[in-house]
Formats: sequence, structure tokens, C-alpha cells
Amino acid sequence: MIELDNSKWLEIIDFFKNEYDIANVTFSVFIEPLEFISYKDGVITLCYSGQTSSNLVQYIEKKYLALLKASAFEVTGENVRFNIIMPEDKDTPVIEASSVDSKLDARIQESNLDKKYTFDTFVVGANNNAAKVTAMAVAEAPGEIYNPLYIYGGVGLGKTHIIHSIGNHVLANNEDAKVLYTTSENFVNQVIDLLGVKNTEQEDFKEFRRKYRNVDVLLIDDIQFFANKDRCQEELFNIFNDLHMKNKQIVLTSDRLPKDIEDISDRLINRFEMGLSVDMKNPDYETRMAILKNKSKSCPIEIEPEALSFIANNFTTNVRELEGSLNNITAFAKIERLKVITEDFAKSILKDRLDPDKEPTITCDQIVEVVADHFNISKADIKSKKRNSDLVNARQICMYLCRKLTDEKLDTIAKELNKKSHRTVLYSYETVQNELLTDAKMQKDINIITKKIGK
Ligand code: ADP
Ligand code: MG
Repeated sequence: MIELDNSKWLEIIDFFKNEYDIANVTFSVFIEPLEFISYKDGVITLCYSGQTSSNLVQYIEKKYLALLKASAFEVTGENVRFNIIMPEDKDTPVIEASSVDSKLDARIQESNLDKKYTFDTFVVGANNNAAKVTAMAVAEAPGEIYNPLYIYGGVGLGKTHIIHSIGNHVLANNEDAKVLYTTSENFVNQVIDLLGVKNTEQEDFKEFRRKYRNVDVLLIDDIQFFANKDRCQEELFNIFNDLHMKNKQIVLTSDRLPKDIEDISDRLINRFEMGLSVDMKNPDYETRMAILKNKSKSCPIEIEPEALSFIANNFTTNVRELEGSLNNITAFAKIERLKVITEDFAKSILKDRLDPDKEPTITCDQIVEVVADHFNISKADIKSKKRNSDLVNARQICMYLCRKLTDEKLDTIAKELNKKSHRTVLYSYETVQNELLTDAKMQKDINIITKKIGK
């Protein structure tokens, strides 16, 4: 935690004044009278020492708090919160951060948000960078940039995490913002329950509409769930129009693009497409490792990198499963009171979860082995520098197949065959490829070897 005292505070407001071109009058009326009282647990407590009324404090909060926060962040690198008190409260004990926190907690709960999902804990990779950046832009300036923001992607890729992050960010940074999160399923069930009472003019129904229309940010998760539910679509359509007209932010998630949701009305699809659609793809290996490393930080047992790598290699299409496997392993490791989680332990725990239908991944080493066996030569000879034509041929076939059948980088393949440069791999690949066009023996060899490898 940083040191934040009166002189830092003066630096912050100095930055604020210059950066945002605050007029002298404004500055001396609203900002200068804010006297620094204390900084504790991320909260700066200030006291307004001028002619004061609670309206005035509210005005300052509404108009300048976001900019002051941004300035504090620029100057200190810290995300602080503010608590402005009146002079008559000055001698009473400084409001504890926990009470600010519990106020925020209460708002998070009212908004149906889960506070564990934040931008901080969301690991970015090439697969989700666009989604995170646009989500953050929307959270910073709700209703102003992309409206609606439509985030789509497969199961377990972080859509729910990111939509909650938007809500949590808005609440933490705008003290009077109203945010509402709902799953589509929940929305649909509410409408169906209300339709049970038949009269749509009833107070219950009005209350339902009021709730959804009276927000600054509406977050609806898994919108594909609206397919085939005409009355629910109609309610959503009306709420959408009302909010959109008022420049209130709408964020939607789905497992597919709007146009690919079947049985949803064209006018709704049309609304969904009004803003920006961004997709979330499967994380690549590096991102999967980063997610695992991040998660494993909170694990009291040491986890060997090979064990993490094993998980990352076997759960490639779903972050939920990736995390689930890690949890599974650490739970068992705790039961067995292990000090270190090894790759073998990870394998033994996960063997039942690994998809038996999944094609086994082929390694370069396996390829060399099969090629050696096929030509009746030794693996060592293939990897040696000997240059007789049979060995050169076998070696080239190895490099060709390693490139074709594995995801290994050229450099890794070169190393496997004791070659210095990836260019040798490329050259061998092209040589074999050309020979395959005309040489019947080569065609036959490759065919048989590929079958032996199991492809
Ligand atoms: P979806 O809603 O797309 O099905 P979720 O948001 O529920 O997926 O994500 C599944 C789990 O994976 C959650 O626990 C979430 O926190 C985690 N997760 C997904 N993507 C990431 C990421 N990029 N960084 C950290 N955790 C992630
Ligand atoms: Mg989800």
C-alpha cells in the first residue's frame, strides 16, 4: 500500500486541474476546499471546508469524483476511493474502509453481481484481447461508445466473467450508478411467472418493467436463451429500446452471433447488431498457462511447471475445465498432504477426465522412432551427422512428418534431429513434398509410416 499524505493529495489535484483544464473558479470553489484528512485501506477521506451543504458534496461527487480518481491513479498508480465528509463529522471517527466496502458490497449484491469476477483477475491473450478492451471501454464510459456491446463465444471462455467485470467496475467507480445483471434464463422465468397472472397491466408487471428500465447499465448473459420465447422477446425489445434511447448501456453475451440465433425476431437481432459485436476464442497455450499460473498463486501447495503444462496441453477449449482440473488436483493433493504437485500426480488425478476419444498427441520422438523402425535403422543414426543416402532420406522424412503431424515449432523440430537451423527443416519438408509428387516409393513409405504412427 502506498503512502498518501497531504502533499500527495496536492499533487493529485494539481494534476487534475491541468490534465482536465479545470477553470480557476471551479477549482477554488469545489476542489481547493477539500481538506485532506486521511488515507487508509485505499480510501482517501476529505472534508469539505467551505460553505457546505450535502447537495454541494453530492454535486462534487457526481461531477468530479471520476476525474479525481483517474488523477489519483495517474499520480500514485493506485485505485483509490473517496469519502467526503462534512465539517460537523470531522471530529467523529474517520469512516472505516470496511464500511465503504460494505456499502459497495451491498450495491454489488443488489445488482446481482458476483464480486469475484473483475478485470484484474481476467487474463488476456490474443483470443480475448478485443473483448477485454471493449468491455473496459464500456465500463469506463457506459452508454457512450458501443451500445449495445455484444460479446459472443463458446462455453467456458469467460463471457460471464467479463460481463460481471463490467458491472463491478461501473459500481466501484460511480457511486450512484445503477447496474443490473441477469441471466436470460432468469429474465425469461420472471416474465413467464408474471404472464401467469395474466393481466400485463398489473402492478407486478409494472414493477418488473420499472426495475429493468431504471438502470444505467443492463447486463444480460446468454441471450440465446430467448430463442422461441416470443413474449419474453417482446418485453426485452421494449426494455432495450427504452434504455437505448436514454443512452443507457446494454451489454449482452451469447454463444453465437445475433444472426445465428434461430427463432429470435428480426427486430431484436437488428437491435443486437446496433452496437459492437466482439468474439472470444479458445485461449492459446500461453494464455492457458497464464490462467493456470494466476489461479495456482492462491494454492498453498507448490505445483511443478510440468504439471501446469500437462493441464494446459490437455484442456484446450474451455477455461472452466482448465480451472476445474487444477482445482481437482489441488483438492486431492491437500487430502494426501503433498508438498509438491508433480506431473505424474496431475496425470493420475486427471486420467478419468481426459477425453478417451481425443486423438493422442504425436511427439517428434515418436515419429523418429517409427521412421527408424520402418527403415530398420537406429534412432541414434537418424539423429547423427552421418551422411549416407539412406540416413539422409530417413532424416528428411522425420522432419517432414514432424512438421506435418505435430504443432511443434521449426526450431524444436531442428533440435530434435540435431540440426542447427530451422531452415534445414524447411528444406527437408520441401524436398519430401516434391518427391511425393513423382516418386512412388516415397509415396508408399510415407503412407505406411503415417499409418504406423496412427494417423
Ligand atoms: P462462459 O460464460 O463463457 O461460459 P465463464 O465466464 O463462466 O465462461 O468462465 C468459466 C471460468 O473460467 C470462470 O471461472 C472464469 O473466471 C474463468 N475464466 C475464463 N476466462 C478467463 C480468463 N481469461 N482469465 C481468468 N479466468 C478466466
Ligand atoms: Mg456464462
